[in-house]
Amino acid sequence: MESESPKLHMFFFPFMAHGHIIPFVDMAKLFAARGVKITAITTQADAPLFSKANQRIKNLGTQIDIKIIKFPSVEVGLPEGCENVDAITNSGQPSSESIMKFFEATVMLQEPLEELLGKYKPDCLVADMFFPWATDAAAKFGIPRLVFHGTGFFALCTISSMMLYEPHKKVSSDSEQFLVPNLPDEIKFSRKQLPLSMKQDGETFLSKLFKEMGASELKSYGVIVNSFYELEPAYADHYRKVLGRRAWHVGPVSLCNRSLEDLASRGKQASIDEQECLKWLNSKEPNSVVYVCFGSVANFSSAQLMEIAMGLEASGQSFIWVVRKDKKGEEEGKEDWLPEGFEKRMESRGLIIRGWAPQVLILDHEAVGGFVTHCGWNSTLEGVSAGVPMAAWPVSADQFYNEKLLTQVLKIGVSVGIQQAAMLFGDYIKREAVEKAVEAILTSDEAKEMRSRAKALGEMAKRAVEEGGSSYSDLNALIKELSLRDH
Ligand code: UDP
Repeated sequence: MESESPKLHMFFFPFMAHGHIIPFVDMAKLFAARGVKITAITTQADAPLFSKANQRIKNLGTQIDIKIIKFPSVEVGLPEGCENVDAITNSGQPSSESIMKFFEATVMLQEPLEELLGKYKPDCLVADMFFPWATDAAAKFGIPRLVFHGTGFFALCTISSMMLYEPHKKVSSDSEQFLVPNLPDEIKFSRKQLPLSMKQDGETFLSKLFKEMGASELKSYGVIVNSFYELEPAYADHYRKVLGRRAWHVGPVSLCNRSLEDLASRGKQASIDEQECLKWLNSKEPNSVVYVCFGSVANFSSAQLMEIAMGLEASGQSFIWVVRKDKKGEEEGKEDWLPEGFEKRMESRGLIIRGWAPQVLILDHEAVGGFVTHCGWNSTLEGVSAGVPMAAWPVSADQFYNEKLLTQVLKIGVSVGIQQAAMLFGDYIKREAVEKAVEAILTSDEAKEMRSRAKALGEMAKRAVEEGGSSYSDLNALIKELSLRDH
């Protein structure tokens, strides 16, 4: 492995949600592989994600240093040990109020962060976008702060235009479409599809947080983007040249996981043995399986899950469906979200994973020919890297923006037809739409065209992270620039 700047020391500080920590862990591995000393600032609950990565990079002769900070859950009225958004969304009773309290608690992390910055004086702090105060915290010690949003250039440009021009305030109803001004493509939304942070009027905690995030990004040293140039060149250029941001693209970071062990151990403990999963996939024809997963946060009602089940059954196609429910207290075959006898009927063609799936391992298998996704950015990019067409079922946050990228710009996806953004519970879609979406990405003529475009992008993704590729070079350029600063 190269060791261009062995003395460079970076702090990585992710937000406590899997969609944020997982790419941070991948980035930590990437930077460590280039000889950078990485210290991860994390909570007790999330530390295992970094220690697992340490197992995987032992051969590099380096380790990610892990510093634990106490998450003030009790102080904001959350249960002891509620240190990851996951503890709320998987609690059985997720509520927006608890999520808000969680965000409020993160503000109290400035003090412990500053203690660590003062003590270890790293050369740079890479902090999650949700910690806008991190730029000032780092500045107190003369340390540059980089922002990690966890989303791509398309969403970053769209959000910037929305904040700047506020086109959503110029329409007369929630369902009226408006054009997002000054983007490379003609992109339209309705107010209904915007995340809560964008449509709240007045000064709420959330709207204030997002304003602070915007201001803190402008004051920061720059932005690290989990994307690759060839995926969204017009938006990568727009972000840098028109919006004037300093940005380095280093993705897809998931591609740093190459071995079976890397893939199987990514994120939470998988609820299925990877060999069992591979055996099942190996028994299927290429491009014959649809993978259905909605990330680590989105929830669905039992009635919605029932519609998904019926849609999958009606499609006649093979599927792997990840449902974040366990069998606790439920008799086999008596789960209220599954039609009677569903699993028995689907025995040969459907696999339900209750809990956590080894997603990238599954997506990369040749049997998988389509992905029904909530369009979280990690999942979107993982689908692109695997070269599969996607059915976009956005729920919240940047997911509606990512849907547009997939369906209108890249043309490697179809919409299932979600009109309304939520915070936690997805909009309702009928079984017929699920069936139609599966057909559209798996077996239709359109699917073939989308697949060949997706495969080409998947190849470009792999080239981008290889030596000489655009992401590889940008990562090198960032490390070099940081190493040349006085430290
Ligand atoms: N993931 C996984 N198994 C699961 C669910 C999610 O490995 O069962 C991973 C997925 O590969 C992705 C991350 O968790 O890297 C989810 O991030 P994303 O941005 O897609 O969605 P979020 O969870 O933030 O809504």
